[in-house]
Amino acid sequence: MNKNCEIVQDLLPLYIDDVCSETSREMIREHLSGCPDCTKLLKQMQDSGLEKQLEQERTDVIGHQRSYFKRRSALVGMILSVIFSVPVLICLIVNLAVGRSLSWFFIVLAALLFTASLTVTPLLVPDQKGLWTLGLGTGSLILLLAVCCIYTRGNWFFVASSAVLFGLSVLFLPFALRSRALQAYVGERKGLIYMAAVTVLYLLMMICIGIYVKDPAYGPTALAVSAPLLIFFWLLFAIIRYLPYNSRFRAGVCLILSGGFLFAADKLMLALTGYRQAWPVFSPGSWNHKTIDGNVKWTILLSGCVLGIIFICSSFTGRKKK
Ligand SMILES: [Zn+2]
Repeated sequence: MNKNCEIVQDLLPLYIDDVCSETSREMIREHLSGCPDCTKLLKQMQDSGLEKQLEQERTDVIGHQRSYFKRRSALVGMILSVIFSVPVLICLIVNLAVGRSLSWFFIVLAALLFTASLTVTPLLVPDQKGLWTLGLGTGSLILLLAVCCIYTRGNWFFVASSAVLFGLSVLFLPFALRSRALQAYVGERKGLIYMAAVTVLYLLMMICIGIYVKDPAYGPTALAVSAPLLIFFWLLFAIIRYLPYNSRFRAGVCLILSGGFLFAADKLMLALTGYRQAWPVFSPGSWNHKTIDGNVKWTILLSGCVLGIIFICSSFTGRKKK
């Protein structure tokens, strides 16, 4: 690189930004016309400048759009809140006017609260929309159940709310545990926490049902049904999470176990409650109302075992290839 090139290359940033003197500009232009190296460098500098500019513009546009949508959704949320409060006011006035001492007013209020929690929350909350909607939706649903139960003078609140909590947690707890807010506390124990929470809520539901039915036979029956179920799901979880083999091997073991569980579960539960029954019979030649139960169960068991063995075998061949 000759001396002129060095001077020109030092001046190139000023040349691109159009802030050098007319004399320097003339000199640079003259040099560039005869020097491919400096021309190439100028082009590179112009290109990277353009890219930076585009990137900046893109960030600006996205930021602008984001804040625009935030403002819009907050506005829609507020309008919805106002709309929701109209029937609440009307109900309050009517209820007071007819002298009903606000009895069914709270049902309307709780029902609207539940609807609002699912529709307005995602619009108004700036961050963690899913988690907030889920939490407030669950809370207001439980409140609605409580209000309805009090209004009808029922005693089913704990049964209904524990069942609702169990059902919702089975479906939505995985999403809640994956959310950023909980991720910091949960870390790698997501699966374990999910299983523990679902088990506790299941037991809570069974206890609530037991208290509700007040039948001395309920306890042993509930235990006979729950114990195999819980043991089966915890066993599957332990295999999937902790068995130190590859995923195909674990899938194979789970398939065999699932086939066995579906085959034997009801007989096992009946046996635990004191009703011994004969094992299902496989009669593939005749399909009628007497044989269908046995045939289906044997098919499930056999297909589970065959698929499981295929998976396990394929896990070994896969390992050899490596
Ligand atoms: Zn040059």
